[in-house]
Amino acid sequence: MEWVEERSFRYRIEPSGGMRVPGIVFATRDLLTDAEQSLEQVIHVAALPGIVAASYAMPDIHWGYGFPIGGVAATDVDAGGVVSPGGVGFDISCGVRLLAADRDGDEFRPALTAVMDGLDRAIPRGAGPGGVWRPDGPGELERLLAGGSRYAVERGHGEERDLLRCEDGGAVADADVTQVGQRARERGLGQVGSLGSANHFLEVQQVTEVYDVPAATAFGIEPGQVCVMIHCGSRGLGHQICTDHVRVMDRAMTRYGITVPDRQLACTPVDSPEGRAYLGAMAAAANYGRANRQLLSDAARAVFRRAVGARLSLVYDVSHNLAKIETHPVAGRCRRLCVHRKGATRAFPPGHPELPEDIREFGQPVLIPGTLGTASYVLAGVPVGDAFHSTCHGAGRTMSRHQAARTVTGSELRVRLRQAGIAARPKSWRGLTEETPEAYKDVDAVVAASEGAGLCRKVARLVPLGVVKG
Ligand code: 5GP
Ligand code: MN
Ligand code: MN
Repeated sequence: MEWVEERSFRYRIEPSGGMRVPGIVFATRDLLTDAEQSLEQVIHVAALPGIVAASYAMPDIHWGYGFPIGGVAATDVDAGGVVSPGGVGFDISCGVRLLAADRDGDEFRPALTAVMDGLDRAIPRGAGPGGVWRPDGPGELERLLAGGSRYAVERGHGEERDLLRCEDGGAVADADVTQVGQRARERGLGQVGSLGSANHFLEVQQVTEVYDVPAATAFGIEPGQVCVMIHCGSRGLGHQICTDHVRVMDRAMTRYGITVPDRQLACTPVDSPEGRAYLGAMAAAANYGRANRQLLSDAARAVFRRAVGARLSLVYDVSHNLAKIETHPVAGRCRRLCVHRKGATRAFPPGHPELPEDIREFGQPVLIPGTLGTASYVLAGVPVGDAFHSTCHGAGRTMSRHQAARTVTGSELRVRLRQAGIAARPKSWRGLTEETPEAYKDVDAVVAASEGAGLCRKVARLVPLGVVKG
């Protein structure tokens, strides 16, 4: 595979074979060590019908189902452009939410154990069912699928102000619950308000650095402050929706004369019954994911209130696995595009009308989890940007779960975290080894590359004080 460095932090793969557009990868050579397989996926995505500009990859790129994780691709809706569930991923609307406490880290330290024990009891997690809230039946689940965080707040699980700080005001309007299958509903019903397992977490963090004081102040964070970061998605419901719709599209593709280099890229035109059905179901899962993060915030707030009398204010909530219909200029003309962001975060520029008024001039907040033992970041959108205003979503894995678990034992990791002053509350220490920091890229390097490539700018850096994991 031929890739050339166009400029710092930007590599280009010229179109060849079935590629309709070039591949553009934002990274450094170091970050692309062993990335052959995921770069192959960037090339495959470039063959999707209707793709415009380029098949993009962010610095945290790694292998995923069909699309690489860290992949961004936009297709032209009015020119036969397709939508592909693999471009969103199985955890539809997985995303991150950051809340800021009215407490400084030094003040808070003595209460850390009590808070972590409280969270340990209050946060449902692991692979199976269980959640903080059981809808009273299929009707209420439908209301939640249509209303997202908005519905959770209506039912008393949060504050009106929370919705102002959620992407899309906490719910997308185009959810079509009739496209959510029976099995997906069954799985969804028992998991409302739960973290899930593996990479999902609820972390108590402290702000160690502020790079952009005016932006941080507007977002509601300051040096030394205690924060809570929540990373989770749409659980079994999103997974089942992806599975169901991939199957339908896989069968329907030939009817539309579509061939793809990898079956995992199953797709149909956005403007087809199958495409519309998927997008409607995806939007319902997106609302589920948002309600999920809203409900877990409510549970965390109760623990903070009881244990230390502290308040948590929402900084922002953003998804990093979603396809959205957006308007962007392509070759000088405004086009209606289906922008797939899979393990990539939208990063609207300063002044964008869809941003909350009180932070609009600073650009969209972007929340980047790192690892349970290193750092996480708050970034912001920049005026020009690239890749349809997108940036990274995390550090990105370098090792499989299996590989990671072989590098360290549960008891070694336990000692390491204790020595680092990080209070971990895993479901199992053995399971936590799959999430050891060495399993991920260096988040500082990923963020530096994203900023260097002109995708975003740094606002603040946070480190973990305690982590709750599935
Ligand atoms: P993904 O959405 O791809 O599953 O995960 C996003 C990112 O979350 C990963 O690339 C990784 O950098 C980060 N991450 C996974 N587990 C943890 C954790 O326990 N704490 C923090 N701060 N970040 C994590
Ligand atoms: Mn997820
Ligand atoms: Mn995620």
